[in-house]
Amino acid sequence: MQGFNKYYPPDYDGEKHGSLNSYRGKHALGDRARKIDQGILIVRFELPFNIWVGHCNAHIGMGVRYNAEKRKIGAYYTTPIFAFRCKCHLCAGWFEIQTDPKNTRYVVTEGARQKDEEWDPAENGGFAVHENDPTKAPPIDPLAALEKTVEAATHTKTVLAPRLEQLQEHADRMRADPYAHSLRVRKQFRAEKKVDAARKRADDAVRAKFALSDDIALEADNDALREEALRELEQERERRRAEPPALGVGVRKSASMSASSGAAGLKAALLRNTYSKLPSKPKPPLSGSSSKPSSLVIRRS
Ligand SMILES: [Zn+2]
Repeated sequence: MQGFNKYYPPDYDGEKHGSLNSYRGKHALGDRARKIDQGILIVRFELPFNIWVGHCNAHIGMGVRYNAEKRKIGAYYTTPIFAFRCKCHLCAGWFEIQTDPKNTRYVVTEGARQKDEEWDPAENGGFAVHENDPTKAPPIDPLAALEKTVEAATHTKTVLAPRLEQLQEHADRMRADPYAHSLRVRKQFRAEKKVDAARKRADDAVRAKFALSDDIALEADNDALREEALRELEQERERRRAEPPALGVGVRKSASMSASSGAAGLKAALLRNTYSKLPSKPKPPLSGSSSKPSSLVIRRS
């Protein structure tokens, strides 16, 4: 049994045995390596073409697979040549197929015949697809070669050269005056920093005025928010007019606070506090401060 798992028996000694495979007296490739001492490995080999077996004269189709004995029989330059020895499944006769690196194909060497179904272009007036002999290479068509050269020259002139010039110009522009670039960037940064600082000062002022905690986010002032605030104020006024006048202000306030909950309630209460002293057709009190970055509209973060 091959050692597939990581079970180490009690009498296993790493110093003595080295590995589980040697402990069990097995090759890492298992039964496929049973003839490894003769240089033979058993592999699964698929017939690359149709053959007739010499012993039983049966036709065996391309793609039939055998447990073949693979061995190295030589080399073409540095590429090894392998032989695959297969046993016919119909008659138990052996046949052998070798690789042919020179022609990038397989050849039957023993015990069978290959069914010749190959189209040979050279025999039919064409050129060989896999020509190994440089002296037999097809002649170069002079017109085609010329056309290729002219095309390449035109491409260089119309596409490559202008693009290179563009890139060169761009690089020159970027490297021309580093001080000016740095100056521009730092100037922009300083301006943005000033705006940010002013916004923070204004926000802090609003927080201090209404005693808000630091974790409440203030929104930037804009027309939509102002419209919404005015609309809510009008609704609140309508509601107050509809209510009976007997109730006190504090009671009404707490009722409206409990009606709306959470952040919305806080927002409405602040809006009421802000706008309650305004005339009924108010000029928006924040319109003059539109340049100011802060706002009275508050949203809990
Ligand atoms: Zn056979």
